[in-house]
Amino acid sequence: RFDDDDELLDGLNPEQREAVVHRGPALLIVAGAGSGKTRVLTHRIASLIRNNEAWPSQILAITFTNKAAAEMRERVGHLLGQVAEGMWISTFHSACVRILRREAENFGFTKSFTIYDSQDSRALVKRIIKDLQADAFGFTVAQVTGKISKLKNELSDADSYARQANFSDPQDAMFVEVFRAYSRALRDANAFDFDDLISQTVFLFRAFPQVAEKYQRRFRHILVDEYQDTNHAQYALIRELTRPPESNELSGLSSFGGGGASLTVVGDSDQSIYAFRGADIRNIVEFERDFPGARVVLLEQNYRSTQNILSAANAVISNNFDRKDKKLWTAVGDGEKIVGFTGYSGHDEAQFVADEIAKLREGGMAYNQIAVFYRTNSQTRALEEIFIRSALPYRVLGGTKFYERAEIKDAMAYLTSVANPFDALALRRILNTPKRGIGPATETQLASFAEREGIGYRDAMRRASELGLGPKVTAAILQLAGLLDEATALADPERPGGEAPVSEVLALLMEKSNYVTMLRASRDPQDEARAENVEELLAVTKEFNRNNPDGTLIDFLTEVSLVAAVDDLDDSSGTVSLMTLHTAKGLEYDAVFLTGVEEDLLPHRMSASEPGGPAEERRLFYVGITRARKRLFISLAMTRAQFGETAVAMPSRYLQEIPAELMDWIQSPGMATSRGGTEPRALNASRGRSYGGSGGGSGSRWNSDSTFGLPPAPPRQKTEWANRVTGQVRDNGDLELVPGDRITHTDFGEGRVNQVTGEGSKRVAHVSFESAGPKKLLIKIAPIEKL
Ligand code: ATP
Ligand code: MG
Repeated sequence: RFDDDDELLDGLNPEQREAVVHRGPALLIVAGAGSGKTRVLTHRIASLIRNNEAWPSQILAITFTNKAAAEMRERVGHLLGQVAEGMWISTFHSACVRILRREAENFGFTKSFTIYDSQDSRALVKRIIKDLQADAFGFTVAQVTGKISKLKNELSDADSYARQANFSDPQDAMFVEVFRAYSRALRDANAFDFDDLISQTVFLFRAFPQVAEKYQRRFRHILVDEYQDTNHAQYALIRELTRPPESNELSGLSSFGGGGASLTVVGDSDQSIYAFRGADIRNIVEFERDFPGARVVLLEQNYRSTQNILSAANAVISNNFDRKDKKLWTAVGDGEKIVGFTGYSGHDEAQFVADEIAKLREGGMAYNQIAVFYRTNSQTRALEEIFIRSALPYRVLGGTKFYERAEIKDAMAYLTSVANPFDALALRRILNTPKRGIGPATETQLASFAEREGIGYRDAMRRASELGLGPKVTAAILQLAGLLDEATALADPERPGGEAPVSEVLALLMEKSNYVTMLRASRDPQDEARAENVEELLAVTKEFNRNNPDGTLIDFLTEVSLVAAVDDLDDSSGTVSLMTLHTAKGLEYDAVFLTGVEEDLLPHRMSASEPGGPAEERRLFYVGITRARKRLFISLAMTRAQFGETAVAMPSRYLQEIPAELMDWIQSPGMATSRGGTEPRALNASRGRSYGGSGGGSGSRWNSDSTFGLPPAPPRQKTEWANRVTGQVRDNGDLELVPGDRITHTDFGEGRVNQVTGEGSKRVAHVSFESAGPKKLLIKIAPIEKL
């Protein structure tokens, strides 16, 4: 059956083949980056179907992003020579939404429930904190949403939390209230937040064994990619799904041979980067204990990267304690050195990235084979500015802010209000948008009326005349309710002539609500752009209708809420991809730029002081490095505009962990030092000796006398890039500034110096800019001129 000629096994090494053909209750594939884990999963699925061991509908494959799911589906189709319908290849969240849409009526939700994204959750928590006056207890929205999310990922709900809460601590007691109110509001709104999608599915299975059994019988093969980043709720879901269906009657049945689904998981503990969201590395470490009879396969050959890139990755990750050392090797050859670059500013760094991309492109590399990674979304600003100026086609993955824009949220809230008449959050959002003279007091009155009567918010609106409000307000509410009813009828599948396309429903809502008219009539120039964004959303719905002729309004809302959270709707052809390091997981590109490799960014300043934080950040760096196939660029800046201020940046501690001989540093002009010149003087001065001395881990050549990355090669002088930027960067070493001086800055415009602190090359000007506000600037390198 598993013939070596089998084309599914061609092009796999012996360990990979074993992982594809092994049959049994549980299989764990642990291996480093780029060793073919995802490829093995794909081939395994194809092999199961090809050998008639499973129907496509009996397979559930879990990937980390929608993009990864789409890729896997396509590859399986390619291997089989046809698209296998009915196979579930999706993220945890999408799989759970599908289950919940079918089953939610079992526990008091309707099929058309809303999915709250993190922004919706924050809006709801904000309202609850206000209603309960919980801010007096020192709660912030971020704290509360963070804590609730963490609890849900541990499968704790408001009641179970209350059972172990410390009620003598007023803050804890108040948190219980907030958590309860939040959970109740979600339920009343017929809505799930993002974490609920998983945890509520687990609760559903536990409360309704006959529902669980349906899925236990259906899925005979469950495969999970990136298993190292599963959290407790996801782990519990897998346990529920792999339980033998008869287990309710026949207790004590072992999963082997007992009819439970066969489970295959693949992962790499060195790539666990979601501990902050509750990912638990123990899930992979304890797999063999949890699933007795599990077979473990190790893969050691890396097929992705050159030896130089792999050596850098191995050296960096070897500095983490508490890990099994893996022997990753590659047959690809050394390849080119890793290129390092230190810019004066984020803009300078972005210019370097753009220039190198132009060169790669000239050398024949396609844009979609190039990716730029960063630690935080705020770093995209400088990159985008330079890319736009350089006419470089790019797109930002994951961080797509389109669906977070207020006007898009408004338009989506109209659609949501049609689909889910209980969704008070959506309804309250549109109640007075555009302005209809309905104030916050009325809004609250409707909410308490709905609660008193035990009806939905839209029903409450329909009965607005019972509230004794003014005639104008009442009419406005009734009119809106009427519009929503009209749109609901249009979107109704039972309607004669069938359900109208989503685009038609949206067009009706936007037109009759006067939303777009309001934007167009506004004198605020921003509103014109907002109107265009709404038009863009209309185009998105039209495209959705084209791609999904049977797609319903709920399908559309589901797609948006799941897709917007992790990755993009459109594909990546012909553009450079920009994304955070977290989004980059599992992907690969010919050329990768790791930007902002600085202290406070990588490791991020929020995690540097947390236990396990720096190790997790190192794994993130490792994930970034191992995405690269042929070329890797690592860059940093000497100053970084962040949190509204320009601050001196320090090279990341992880840089010294890359063996110097693997790197080739190029620098900004004028940054050479007397020592043969590779370290920027300002960095040398600012980091002092505290940066040395850590001793480094194995493979590190760092010592306190050397430079970071210890670049032995002389800097590439006067590159094309260097010539081009000479005009932009300057050495202001001699610039005298005193309080009261007026200056102009290339980014911030004109401003007045209030104070000068520090000495020599570390002199800092405190400046009030007319439009950009107060900033601190390192005089030596700031792009400023005295007026
Ligand atoms: P990550 O840990 O980053 O998720 P991975 O272990 O899932 O990586 P894959 O993405 O499956 O690795 O594989 C990395 C690359 O190596 C892919 O381009 C894949 O097609 C290729 N590859 C894997 N195995 C082989 C093989 N036996 N022969 C040739 N190429 C292979
Ligand atoms: Mg993978």
